[in-house]
Amino acid sequence: MVVVMAPDATDEDIARVVEKVEGVGGEAFVSKGVVRTIIGLVGDIDSFHHLNLRSMSGVADVHRISDPYKLVSRQHHPERSTVWVGGVPFGPETFTFVAGPCAVESPAQTLEAAEMAKAAGATLLRGGAFKPRTSPYAFQGLGVRGLEILSSVREATGLPIVTEITDARDVKVVVEHADMLQVGTRNMANFGLLQAVGEAGKPVLLKRGMNSTIEEWLMAAEYIAQRGNLDVVLCERGIRTFEPATRNTLDISAVPVVQATSHLPVIVDPSHAAGRKDLVVPLSRAAIAVGADGVIVDVHPDPESALCDGPQALLGNDLRLLAQAVRQLPPAVGRVDAGTRVRTPV
Ligand code: PEP
Ligand code: MN
Repeated sequence: MVVVMAPDATDEDIARVVEKVEGVGGEAFVSKGVVRTIIGLVGDIDSFHHLNLRSMSGVADVHRISDPYKLVSRQHHPERSTVWVGGVPFGPETFTFVAGPCAVESPAQTLEAAEMAKAAGATLLRGGAFKPRTSPYAFQGLGVRGLEILSSVREATGLPIVTEITDARDVKVVVEHADMLQVGTRNMANFGLLQAVGEAGKPVLLKRGMNSTIEEWLMAAEYIAQRGNLDVVLCERGIRTFEPATRNTLDISAVPVVQATSHLPVIVDPSHAAGRKDLVVPLSRAAIAVGADGVIVDVHPDPESALCDGPQALLGNDLRLLAQAVRQLPPAVGRVDAGTRVRTPV
């Protein structure tokens, strides 16, 4: 932590800061410049927070140097992590392609979407059984029946499943069926839910809150990690900006920013970012080029009849182009298809 003194701070002001810091067992290193003095603090950061240094006479500003998150930070774990989901890796050496319908609608629709996903090269199936809809009148998902359909489609295709959990009370039933629990953008700051999935013993896909900073997102991951679960994959899915051309603005720079500061894998959801199928392939290419550890994409056998997010679902030629991108581009940035590294889960 660094304390920046105001230009008119007196020697007494400086001495009082040093005394306070030393009073809680810290060390204070005073550096006097021509105009300003700065004081570097070494010691227990939590004890410094309680000192209220910012309100002291002569203090202009206080800066934190270390990350506010610990378990998910590279300061504490410099190597980037690999998270395994049903035998499929998410990590720095691989590129993981996740695809499936936005919502589970029926056994036939889910199976067909899963077969499309698999044929395109996906190694994990996505599909929502509990849908967090903006309107209470919109399709809310099939609930437990949807989870059962996902389980049977996993059986038929061999694809592990990632599905959203929207309520801490559903942990038990979702864990019975899912290989990975998704926390959606609307629940990123639902701290009770984060703690519950942190204790659930399954890997978590944590989407970025559409109104959240990267630091808030990593603090949300810290909530999960703090409950003993470090198997967290982050997902950039677009944030709200003033731009109406896309549903959200894909913050592509979040990928390298997160990778520089956190050891957790980070993937991109171009479907929910754009809300438009014509942008999914170009944004996926951008995600691969920027160094994302994977993508998660909506596919649907009949987007026009989809009960949720039809306009962004791929099929046909768009899906073929996506399959080509995820096959051809990751090797150019030093990655192999996660499908070539699959382990049999124990
Ligand atoms: C989803 O993936 O189905 C979903 C609802 O995504 P998000 O939380 O990013 O809107
Ligand atoms: Mn959706």
